[in-house]
Amino acid sequence: MLQVGITGGIGSGKSTVCQVFNTLGIPVFKADDAAKYLMSHDEALIEQIKALLGNESYHGLVPDRQKIGAIIFNDPQKLQQINALVHPATVSYYKNWLIQQKAPYVLKEAAIFFESGTAQEIELMIGVYAPAPLRIDRVLKRGPMTRERAESIMNQQMNDEEKMKLCDYVIVNDDKTPVIPQVLHLHATLLHKAK
Ligand code: ADP
Repeated sequence: MLQVGITGGIGSGKSTVCQVFNTLGIPVFKADDAAKYLMSHDEALIEQIKALLGNESYHGLVPDRQKIGAIIFNDPQKLQQINALVHPATVSYYKNWLIQQKAPYVLKEAAIFFESGTAQEIELMIGVYAPAPLRIDRVLKRGPMTRERAESIMNQQMNDEEKMKLCDYVIVNDDKTPVIPQVLHLHATLLHKAK
């Protein structure tokens, strides 16, 4: 099964583009959603996170997102340590998901493939591109999000102009270039590659 990554900074429109691929019958694995799910369902992982961040970071199996966010956004080392716990759990969850899929190719969506060093696990990479000011407008409209928080997340992610250079294909989602024809064209290319 051909495994294709799809990436782009916050607000670039990754999820929206994935929905179009999904309507074409392509299964989409959302790495961020999987990580969130595991952080509230995988008991072994939860114990490891509690040992790292303190028992007060959870209420039973429910993570205290505000407390965890406050710790990791102010402490890059803790952020790295928590990623080192969540990442392997997400990888095994993905592998288990992958073997159940029946499609010519699958998409794995993540905002930070290159930043996290997980791009090597992917055969081909799609980048979704939108200019930074448009991305900010979109995430503020999508809500709930402050401009300050959106900018801080963007500053922690790789610059999208750089990111796109690392991708095999780029979908331009700048509110000017029609998206669906680009997806249809790429879908045909990927079906061909998957043969
Ligand atoms: P990401 O997953 O990259 O953070 P989303 O797909 O959630 O981005 O898009 C951010 C917001 O912008 C969403 O509210 C989405 O509906 C909107 N959006 C994205 N692309 C388009 C588009 N081509 N036309 C209209 N709205 C869009």
